[in-house]
Amino acid sequence: MLLAGSCHCGAVHFRVNSPHPYPFCLCYCSICRKTAGGGGYAINLGAEFETLEVEGREHIREYRARLRDEETGKETVSEARRSFCAECGSALWLWSPRWPELVHPHASAIDTPLPVPPERTHIMLGSKAPWVVVHADPRDKLFDEYPDESLAQWHQRLGLEDTED
Ligand SMILES: [Zn+2]
Ligand SMILES: [Zn+2]
Repeated sequence: MLLAGSCHCGAVHFRVNSPHPYPFCLCYCSICRKTAGGGGYAINLGAEFETLEVEGREHIREYRARLRDEETGKETVSEARRSFCAECGSALWLWSPRWPELVHPHASAIDTPLPVPPERTHIMLGSKAPWVVVHADPRDKLFDEYPDESLAQWHQRLGLEDTED
């Protein structure tokens, strides 16, 4: 599925092909919540990095989160790069050198109407803010940390993978 996206002020527009466009995975971690999740969580989609086309790239800045190991207190900088519009602050996508062929646009930045997921996965609930109420249906999966399947595996399990180019 070809996705078109943009920031709120319109300085940045992008297009990307996504075989995994269902916005089913809600991440309640502090990075998602603070940078992209006004409702307490953010939703990322799975897309193909090599197909990403960007207009207004000069307005994009990247954020690399500082991570603190709770046992040792040691700080490291996340290898994941979170792109956002420097003019309006809209979160755009995440890219990590760990999965360089993928890019993860925020569902909130996509203008193309996305399909409605038949079930959802709620992840990093151990990092959830106390005020956030989880609205989970009986079919939904819940995880304190990482889920037991990738974005791609969820689509494959439910027969929802978009294999068209
Ligand atoms: Zn903007
Ligand atoms: Zn997160």
